[in-house]
Amino acid sequence: MKKLITIMVPVYNEEQVIEEFYSRVNEVTKRTDEYNFEILFVNDGSIDKTLAIIKKLRNSDHRISYIDLSRNFGKEVAMLAGFDYSKGDAVVIIDADLQDPPELIYDMISYWEQGYDDVYAKRIDRQGETWLKKSTSKAFYRLLKKTTTIPIQQDTGDFRLLDRRCINALRQIRESQRYTKGLFSWLGFKKKEVLFSRDQRLAGNTKWNYTKLFNLAIEGITSFTTYPLKLSSYLGLLISIGAFIYMFVIIIKTLVLGESVSGYPSLMSVILFLGGIQLLSLGIIGEYLGRIFNETKKRPVYLVQEYNDNKDLVVHENE
Ligand code: UDP
Ligand code: MG
Repeated sequence: MKKLITIMVPVYNEEQVIEEFYSRVNEVTKRTDEYNFEILFVNDGSIDKTLAIIKKLRNSDHRISYIDLSRNFGKEVAMLAGFDYSKGDAVVIIDADLQDPPELIYDMISYWEQGYDDVYAKRIDRQGETWLKKSTSKAFYRLLKKTTTIPIQQDTGDFRLLDRRCINALRQIRESQRYTKGLFSWLGFKKKEVLFSRDQRLAGNTKWNYTKLFNLAIEGITSFTTYPLKLSSYLGLLISIGAFIYMFVIIIKTLVLGESVSGYPSLMSVILFLGGIQLLSLGIIGEYLGRIFNETKKRPVYLVQEYNDNKDLVVHENE
């Protein structure tokens, strides 16, 4: 029997690009009849005509299936929904805005056939991205790499092909605050990179702004390392030692040397400095506490409003 490849596409307000995306993917899938394809759209609570267009496309092409989430849950969660519902022996995660060239899927499949479980696309350049975005992302990766023990792939997005065993593994990870890029690394398995140059968005706007990116960065750090907690302990220790030494200096100065008590400026700067450090440490603890709080609620990670699949396809039981 032919192997099934699921092409999984999280979409959020992509009415401008989705038809063009489909026709590019359709071209790619038509190049071979060695595989069956399923094109699974995860509609992440779009408020434009995205879902209507998907439904229309589905009328003419029954390889298309879709999940309609009850609201916008964010790409990370949309991808989990996609993992849960995809049926393929391998799943390709791809963005709808054609920043990830669908033509690369072939190279991915051929590596997969050679026995790789996670074939990820690595960007060789980032067209149309600002200097600020590039340098902040670089700094973030450097920080993450220094503080975690698992190897994190730099310059790779979510565009990749995953074997069924990776998908089953990812489905077991039900964290609601997800940093999927890190999870891919956490999984391990046999990885292979393919290089590509990332195009500009076809139309529409990126859904990421700096606040969202900053939050994702915090997500990445707090879900993969407890290093910040350690850092605040170290900082505390260091400052305590400093304070202890300074205390002796003051005692000797006043008791032995008989200098008069110096006043307001030094006192104020110590108070402000310590206050700042304390708040920072509290904030760090708070980040982790917040995560614990959110995970202990054990809410379902996402809710599905509607699911329409391709009934002819074989369903993989959860292994
Ligand atoms: N996306 C999503 N939910 C969101 C935001 C984005 O499913 O809340 C989808 C979006 O439709 C696109 C992909 O995730 O297919 C990547 O989004 P975008 O192009 O905005 O991110 P960028 O390429 O700028 O990192
Ligand atoms: Mg994009």
